[in-house]
Amino acid sequence: MDMSELKHFANSTLRGTLSQNVPMSKHTSWRAGGMAERIYQPADLEDLLEFLRGVAVDEPLYALGLGSNLLVRDGGLRGTVLLLHAALSALHLTEDGSVYCEAGVPGAKLARYAALHHLHGAEFFAGIPGTLGGMLAMNAGCYGSETWEKVLRVQTVDRHGEVHIRTAADYEIGYRHVAKLASRNVQEEFFLAAWLQFPRGDEEAARQGIKALLSKRIATQPLNLPNAGSVFRNPPGDHAARLIEQCRLKGRQIGGAQVSEKHANFIVNTGAATATDIENLINEIQATVQQQTGVRLQCEVRIVGKARN
Ligand SMILES: Cc1cc2nc3c(=O)[nH]c(=O)nc-3n(C[C@H](O)[C@H](O)[C@H](O)COP(=O)(O)OP(=O)(O)OC[C@H]3O[C@@H](n4cnc5c(N)ncnc54)[C@H](O)[C@@H]3O)c2cc1C
Repeated sequence: MDMSELKHFANSTLRGTLSQNVPMSKHTSWRAGGMAERIYQPADLEDLLEFLRGVAVDEPLYALGLGSNLLVRDGGLRGTVLLLHAALSALHLTEDGSVYCEAGVPGAKLARYAALHHLHGAEFFAGIPGTLGGMLAMNAGCYGSETWEKVLRVQTVDRHGEVHIRTAADYEIGYRHVAKLASRNVQEEFFLAAWLQFPRGDEEAARQGIKALLSKRIATQPLNLPNAGSVFRNPPGDHAARLIEQCRLKGRQIGGAQVSEKHANFIVNTGAATATDIENLINEIQATVQQQTGVRLQCEVRIVGKARN
């Protein structure tokens, strides 16, 4: 966007907030990373659609939930980051018994809502500190459950502000993997909401399930330091953490980035990690594990933006 388009923004009826040169360390759970050229925080769904209808066709756009699976390189991100978690917050039961959940709703809220309405099987969302949008993009999951197993259909928007209804058949969906199917003509789209289906269950049992899951996380994950959850996908039939530990990489540190002593598939920011420190450590882990075990670990965390010159 050039200045004339920013003027266009000022003259529009948009109700959201546009900020420039925003450190992405403020918006990512690693608390590290470069600047976003612009961040647009829409007021609500309608406002997001209006923004998209007016934005320049060549403006790079990135959807952002809670930034719990994202590393923005220190050279920053050109274009506009769409900050969705506050804007897309609707959550309600529909007449057919499914849960309509907008993309900005955090996993913990969704899990509690489903439990309150006597639904079973949403408990696992409580342990994932991201939004439904991020969980749909990643097919996030844990303890044997995955986001897309619960999806009846999703509502998406393309970069021109046109809304679409899609189903799982429009995507290639796998373990921590969701890709558009070219044959279904899905263009660059962002998730707005999903209709999720859960069987009837018992409220107290679901609450207990959530409690047990959170205690397990506190016991096994380094939640006292900024991190982005598991950095690598588990290779088929194995665990990335086991391989990293076997290579004696626990505690290995580059700058402020350290392989957690508590969970080897977590990289923690010990205070002043840069995105470069984190990415260098990721690369070192990949190279060491490959050299010593022959397994090439695949990154689960999304890495975007330019390296610092
Ligand atoms: C302590 C901790 C524990 C974790 N445990 C788990 C776990 O058990 N299982 C698991 O799967 N993950 C886990 N994660 C990782 C992370 O929480 C999930 O990947 C989550 O789904 C990311 O959601 P988010 O809103 O933070 O996404 P972001 O980090 O904001 O974005 C992640 C990606 O999704 C895209 N995206 C976000 N919103 C949208 C949208 N509306 N439309 C299209 N694309 C979008 C972004 O562009 C980006 O590419 C953990 C992270 C932490 C910090």
